Amino acid sequence: VTTVGALLGALRARLAHLAEGPREAELLVGAALGVGRARLIAYPESAVTERDAQRALALAEERARGRPVAQLLGRREFWSLELEVTEAVLVPRPETELLVELGLAAIAAHADPRVADLGAGSGAIGLAIAHERSDARVELIEQSPAALAVACGNARRLGVANVVAKLGDWCAPLVGRYELILANPPYLAADDAALPGLAHEPRAALVAGATGIEALARIAASAPAYLASGGLLALEHGADQGEAVRALLARASLGGIATARDLAGHERVTHGRRTG
Ligand code: GLN
Repeated sequence: VTTVGALLGALRARLAHLAEGPREAELLVGAALGVGRARLIAYPESAVTERDAQRALALAEERARGRPVAQLLGRREFWSLELEVTEAVLVPRPETELLVELGLAAIAAHADPRVADLGAGSGAIGLAIAHERSDARVELIEQSPAALAVACGNARRLGVANVVAKLGDWCAPLVGRYELILANPPYLAADDAALPGLAHEPRAALVAGATGIEALARIAASAPAYLASGGLLALEHGADQGEAVRALLARASLGGIATARDLAGHERVTHGRRTG
């Protein structure tokens, strides 16, 4: 038998090398004990059974070996929505909320907008928009059946009814015209130095080719044909891909092309409108 405080100390030490180590230690101890963070901090002298302590230490071991906390907890908060996360989907990243923000602004003045989230993964982007705009009709497009099942489960659990799921590759399942098409496609280069640290997430969500621009180029070439007049295409990309994506959207004859920076100051989302 140990105490909450001692167990927290052990996990903090085990995860000290991680940027978010202290916070992650609290999340994992909380998950192992089935109690919230506030309670852990308030009652450090509470007794912990050997079984619960072993469970917390095992979670920390898996975390230290690279598994994301979101997978260990089975959930991640995005846009204030609690999403189920499994190894079938990319863990939603905070910077992707920028894509949601820009998308919502683009359809603010449009009633009953049609929206498509290409490569929806957990459904984070499309579900956030559908949740904010109950009049929107949002399509979650995903080529991985396992990922699409996670997205559908999230829609059901959150009670978001104005979405439909479509299995398929980027624009292939689209029909008609949309006011908003968004995507956070795989954009890392096949030799990106970050990839070894992302080994527990689906490679298809991270890498689409040698340079990282391949999926962005395919979407930029195919999506404008499905935009309504005035409709917006918004693409998340890597910090060093802004110029390339602006060029792709210009080649696709979109107008008002601009790039937004994320909270870290990196170029992160480039968008353009169909003018004709
Ligand atoms: N933003 C992710 C990362 O850097 C990459 C996601 C993607 O390729 N779409 O971990």
